[in-house]
Amino acid sequence: MILNTIKSKFSRKFKKNNWPGLIEAYKSHLPVDSKTPIITLKEGNTPLIFSEKLSKIIGNDTQIYLKYDGLNPTGSFKDRGMTMAISKAKEEGCEAVICASTGNTSASAAAYATRGGLKSYVLIPDGFVAQGKLAQALMYGAEVLSIKGNFDDALKIVQDLSNKFPITLVNSVNPYRIEGQKTAAFEIVDDLSCTPDWLCIPMGNAGNITAYWKGFQEYSKKNQKLPKMMGFQASGSAPLVNNIIVKNPDTIATAIRIGNPVNREKAKVVKKESKGDFQSVTDTEIIESYKLLAKEGIFCEPASAASVAGLIKNKNRIKKESTIVCVLTGNGLKDPDCAIKNNDAMFQQNIEPSLKNISKKLGY
Ligand SMILES: *Cc1c(COP(=O)(O)O)cnc(C)c1O
Repeated sequence: MILNTIKSKFSRKFKKNNWPGLIEAYKSHLPVDSKTPIITLKEGNTPLIFSEKLSKIIGNDTQIYLKYDGLNPTGSFKDRGMTMAISKAKEEGCEAVICASTGNTSASAAAYATRGGLKSYVLIPDGFVAQGKLAQALMYGAEVLSIKGNFDDALKIVQDLSNKFPITLVNSVNPYRIEGQKTAAFEIVDDLSCTPDWLCIPMGNAGNITAYWKGFQEYSKKNQKLPKMMGFQASGSAPLVNNIIVKNPDTIATAIRIGNPVNREKAKVVKKESKGDFQSVTDTEIIESYKLLAKEGIFCEPASAASVAGLIKNKNRIKKESTIVCVLTGNGLKDPDCAIKNNDAMFQQNIEPSLKNISKKLGY
């Protein structure tokens, strides 16, 4: 752990109730100027939460923190990228945006587009988008097209559409998405006053791992040790781990159900430069971590729990006194079906509402 003294002029002094959104807070690090109309929902400034349970599980005096990005305005880290992508699209005079999405990108694109007065079109894979995410896209007024195909099929189509027509693509191939998302790394450095030893993060299209790496590189001092970037994929959807294209990706973690990541080459560079590693975790391991986090009061979506499942898998590789951050990319409320199907709670139904009956049920 090396102390970091670089502080953004605007960064954390807005912390309590005056946070202006991440573009304003970190504008000296972002490609914006006085002509950029800032479309914001005050995203960013999410909590970095110390995990007592995980620190204990890993042991060896390690400190495990959770970057809870599910507390962004639409419930996922995508808002960090979308405030930038939509602001720049508006600056460039565009009137409509489009994306392919496993759910969260569409929710975020729809919210920021409508806030900026732009139209949004989203393509989603039929039957594999969590209810909360679909509800959001519909409510924020996106035109939603559910296709008989997976995310990768949808992405190909929106890329072609954006090349042919005056519609801006806001998937993570849009470089402004990466710019916005890198601010999560800034916040971690600001909060810890150092860089972590490891960053554990789920990977789908690998835009976020690319963004974090860029953020750590830009925000740390010369010669400062940068974190090992540990990227995790679901074992049924692990194209980056196995260096292949997965034709039919399959996992309970729908947000990372992606067979041919658009940021594949960038991710390879991140892994190499950071001396990191890409590994897969099973759906069972993902759900175990999902439940474990909830028992510490933190409800994330299954894809997010892949970062913690990956951390636990590497327990024996972690050096004494390490500081590790696991990124929790999305909010658990996005996917209530998964939670209701996968918990260890006592849930008794059809109970007679009498004091005697209920006190007996509760063991008194
Ligand atoms: C988008 C998303 C991911 C994957 O991020 P990439 O940048 O595509 O690697 C992980 N978790 C959640 C909740 C997401 O919405």
